[in-house]
Amino acid sequence: MTQQDIRPPSAAPAPVTLVTVEPEPERGRPLISYVLPVYNERDGITAFHTELTAALDSRPELDFELVYVNDGSTDGSLELLKGLAERDGRVRVVDFARNFGHQLAITAGLDLARGDAVIVMDTDLQDPPKVSLELVDAWREGAEIVHARRRSRQDSAFKRATAHLYYRVLRSSTDVDIPLDTGDFRLLDRRVAEELRRYRERSRFVRGIVASMGYRQTEVAFDRDERFAGETKYPLRKMARLAIDGVTSFSTAPLKMITRLGFVVLALSLLGILYALAMKFFRPEITVSGWTMLMCVVLFLGGTQMLSLGVIGAYIGRIYSEAQGRPLYLVREVVGGDGDH
Ligand code: UDP
Ligand code: MG
Repeated sequence: MTQQDIRPPSAAPAPVTLVTVEPEPERGRPLISYVLPVYNERDGITAFHTELTAALDSRPELDFELVYVNDGSTDGSLELLKGLAERDGRVRVVDFARNFGHQLAITAGLDLARGDAVIVMDTDLQDPPKVSLELVDAWREGAEIVHARRRSRQDSAFKRATAHLYYRVLRSSTDVDIPLDTGDFRLLDRRVAEELRRYRERSRFVRGIVASMGYRQTEVAFDRDERFAGETKYPLRKMARLAIDGVTSFSTAPLKMITRLGFVVLALSLLGILYALAMKFFRPEITVSGWTMLMCVVLFLGGTQMLSLGVIGAYIGRIYSEAQGRPLYLVREVVGGDGDH
């Protein structure tokens, strides 16, 4: 990958010569980093590492780096990971002080990965190591982001059904083109991984952020295997939180619904007020004293309150997107000029 860096060259003054661009020293083999989140995977991690390294050995033309992120495991996974690091110089282990969650584990790994391409994958053998090499092939053909899309999966019927529905609801509630049936198994070009570091929001939905970034994205389909050992580390509670993070970080649709509801309620309450007044003037004999006033006040307040909530919601939506502090734009490269601003 020979992509020109968009940032101005570092402080060293450029020598004044006729040759303006020094040819970059050709790096040897491309380095592929793996970001591997681990949470209580004691029974499966060794098998995972063995299968992954076997796959990597089939590609001697590439260099690899394995960044395991131990997300506060309490089952002795860390000791196993340290053992792997001792035996294999390509392994680095990041040990979290506690369980921060899958999305933050991935983030830490991406922060540390140094490869020309970075692959994020689960460590329970549900994402087959061989498929990660197909992602590399797609990258070498020019893709900057390669999503691994599940053609089929072996999870429980409940998980399959909720995930299927969720991806479709999510897609319809945002403008971001979030790929269907895709988790966090994907490859990012070094440039994309670097830009991703500028997204520092706390409640993060990494797959959504990546999809929203642009660049040349493509998909590789795969069949998702069963978990090799242990239970899912995504109980319903964590799954629900991730699902809510996904919708709320990419859409203000729920806030906009309040405004819409406000208009409907206000319109209905105006009709109610007209009805109450009509009863007062045309059927005074059946109108209880005080009813008209009461109806008018209650309906008017109800309608305006709902609409006001919508207005406040609109501002909160803006504050929220400012607070996320996402980069305003992402640049692939700048062509021409001397690179100085
Ligand atoms: N994981 C993590 N922290 C957590 C939960 C999960 O690092 O709090 C890791 C886990 O070890 C695995 C990956 O994230 O490598 C996906 O988790 P899991 O396989 O349990 O999710 P599922 O495949 O069931 O959705
Ligand atoms: Mg899994």
